[in-house]
Amino acid sequence: MSLSFKVVLLGEGRVGKTCLCLRYVQNSFSPDQESTIQATYLDKRLNVGKRSVKLMIWDTAGQERFHALGPIYYRDANGALLVYDITDRDSFTKVRHWVKELRKIVGKQIILVIAGNKADMEKKRQVEEAEAESYAQSVGAVHVLTSAKTGKNVETAFLELTKGMLKQANAAGGPTSGASSSSSSSSSAASGGSQRGFVDISNESQQSSKSGCCS
Ligand code: GDP
Ligand code: MG
Repeated sequence: MSLSFKVVLLGEGRVGKTCLCLRYVQNSFSPDQESTIQATYLDKRLNVGKRSVKLMIWDTAGQERFHALGPIYYRDANGALLVYDITDRDSFTKVRHWVKELRKIVGKQIILVIAGNKADMEKKRQVEEAEAESYAQSVGAVHVLTSAKTGKNVETAFLELTKGMLKQANAAGGPTSGASSSSSSSSSAASGGSQRGFVDISNESQQSSKSGCCS
């Protein structure tokens, strides 16, 4: 059986969200990434162990720059990739804001991975890895240092997210999509691993990624 998860990218403008998307799905990088790329959805299939998973990845169309990103974008997400730029302290502060917002609106069950992007720009670093690591731990998130430019850890970031979402799906024994802010589920509440309610896409024809954003 194949499962489908909604993943959202969140973070300040210019941290590299669109580039991470592009690197992950198309294995490409453009140093002068247009900031006004439209629309926002693409999907990616991957296998984790025996499981076949489809990620529906939502990138923003730049609304975050105008503080105009509403809950409709993230309220039914199974996972979020929270991106900051290691050379920009403010962008790390913004991640804390997103964590609070997601815990409030979506609840505990949303899986969070925090990506310290532009790891290729070590010399300009403003956020220490240890600090980011310990913050991530304190909010139950995984932290990874990524570079959309070199490709470093980009797959790892999405894989960690997927593994977390699969675990969450097992623990909940059912759907998390459309989740409310109730905090009734926890990762210790395993119940036999039924996948009831998750979108089963086994019969869907194997289409290649359709890219709306990031192309
Ligand atoms: P978004 O606003 O968060 O979607 O950011 P973009 O993906 O549009 O990237 C903003 C800028 O940062 C662009 O000029 C990218 O080329 C650059 N950029 C993105 N990721 C990296 C990275 O890993 N390393 C470096 N050096 N530049 C990056
Ligand atoms: Mg973007």
